[in-house]
Amino acid sequence: MGRIEEILNRLEGLYPEADTMLAHESAFELLVAVILSAQATDESVNRVTPDLFRAFPTIEAFQEAPLAEIEKRIRSIGLYRNKARHIKATADMIVTRFGGKVPGDQDDLESLPGVGRKTANVVLSVWFKQPRIAVDTHVARVAKRLRLAEWEDSPLVVERKLMKVLPRESWSATHHRMILFGRYRCTARSPDCDACVLKEFCRYPDIRP
Ligand code: SF4
Repeated sequence: MGRIEEILNRLEGLYPEADTMLAHESAFELLVAVILSAQATDESVNRVTPDLFRAFPTIEAFQEAPLAEIEKRIRSIGLYRNKARHIKATADMIVTRFGGKVPGDQDDLESLPGVGRKTANVVLSVWFKQPRIAVDTHVARVAKRLRLAEWEDSPLVVERKLMKVLPRESWSATHHRMILFGRYRCTARSPDCDACVLKEFCRYPDIRP
């Protein structure tokens, strides 16, 4: 078995059911949750979204909501003022430009306020079931330690390198597994190397974050 295949198998063994942890019931709820999750944990996002989505059950409700009412419900999340502005402006653009539906196209998604490549990739992967690899800080760190990318690579370069070496059908699941692995085992400051099933493929601590 090749190195890549072995890495994928072991990650799958650790996280067979890899999927997003962000609670959502629609494409727009997912989009809002991903916007909120920037520099915040999924758990902290999941704590505020039930109340938020109850208060504003449709995209139009977010579009019409007073900014302060959105802010009030997401205050425990970092950068909440910016995020509230982005969510309201995104709702407005989806209604006025995209007929009230979250677009399933990368460029259209990235044209929304507060939506960058990573956020678009998560929505395309999780909701629209398109093969994507969204590179966040965890995916980048794990890829670099496992020699799938170089330390100086930007998130976009990491994404391209992963797309080149990983089988297309594994992209979405592998991205979720790398997030979980990076968040809970291969952490930035104190990775659990003694118990790591990927140790033989890893160059840490030869390179460090
Ligand atoms: S050996 Fe340590 S640094 Fe390397 S992949 Fe495993 S947990 Fe991460």
